[in-house]
Amino acid sequence: MRKKFLCSILMLQIIFLAGCSVENTEKETGGEKVSSAEESKSEDSPAVREIFAMDTYMTVTAYGEKAETAAEQAQERIQELDAELSTGEEDSEIYQLNKTGSAILSDDAAYLYERSMEINQETDGAFQPFIYPIMELWGFTSQNYQVPKKKVIKEKLLLMDISQVSYDQKTREIAFLKEDMKIDFGGIAKGYASDEVVRIFGENGVSSGMISLGGNVWAMGRKTDGSLWRVAIQNPEESEDYLGVLEIENKAVITSGGYERYFEQDGKRYHHIIDPSTGYPAENGLTSVTIISEDGTLADALSTSLYVMGLEKAVAWWRGHSSDFDVVLLTDQGQLYVTEGIASSFSSDFDVEIIEK
Ligand code: ADP
Ligand code: MG
Repeated sequence: MRKKFLCSILMLQIIFLAGCSVENTEKETGGEKVSSAEESKSEDSPAVREIFAMDTYMTVTAYGEKAETAAEQAQERIQELDAELSTGEEDSEIYQLNKTGSAILSDDAAYLYERSMEINQETDGAFQPFIYPIMELWGFTSQNYQVPKKKVIKEKLLLMDISQVSYDQKTREIAFLKEDMKIDFGGIAKGYASDEVVRIFGENGVSSGMISLGGNVWAMGRKTDGSLWRVAIQNPEESEDYLGVLEIENKAVITSGGYERYFEQDGKRYHHIIDPSTGYPAENGLTSVTIISEDGTLADALSTSLYVMGLEKAVAWWRGHSSDFDVVLLTDQGQLYVTEGIASSFSSDFDVEIIEK
């Protein structure tokens, strides 16, 4: 069988447009490219850390007097979370939990478990942290990609039975009652990490910062010149192009797309967002979902969940929770939708349909 691994992690799932927003200047006006060195001269110089963690490239940028301390602490915290939550590192809490089927959860793991379960319930199972055995089956955890046999997928689906977990919120004792159940916070952990960086920045008096963890952006405060942050959403069809630009402050902007991590076999593309109702990569008509919210943890989980739901269910779900978030959706027919709360902050060369409450 011909197997082709095409793409692992796209560094710039979301292009973050800082300073004079170079890409945007070029796109809208065809103007001269301004070098980032020139740009930064006119502003306070930021503290920046580039980190590889949680299988992706991350950049945290802080402005202010204690920016260096804030950036340093943010890097340490991200590395700490990576070490705790990694499904692949033998020393990690989650690896050990998955191996032994029981544990007393740390603060971080308990928080993520409780929020994951809450979102699992609210999304009617579209968000499913017990997806790990299916991720393994498809080879997304080892990069030994394969299209599994239907029968095996069916067997593994039985391991996502959340009634087979005992959890005590007080003691944080967790036990998987069925053998081989495994948990994976890959759909929520980066959002939580971004919220944690925002907390650390706040504790250090940082009121302007940009946190970009793979496709997960958190735009804190405003830019130092008082203007809004500009965050571009990547076009899943063309990595050099983008769907549009959001002008925002104090919001997480988190995208899930089937273009981020996938393999191809016999001319068909298989990506890493799994529909828990089938065990196959979700193919419900959406190719990109961006959640905009003050809650990065929620935004991360929902970008995955709404991708799984498909357009109709995603829109209905937003209508039921519209005070918590906004969303930008792209269908496989190329139609772009934005919800009304963010519509006036979003500019795009595409035809955009506004979803109302
Ligand atoms: P990324 O991690 O690339 O930013 P997502 O936030 O959409 O993308 O998360 C995808 C990851 O979430 C997968 O790699 C896997 O670990 C996990 N995952 C896949 N399908 C689901 C699902 N239906 N519910 C919860 N987690 C999922
Ligand atoms: Mg997610």
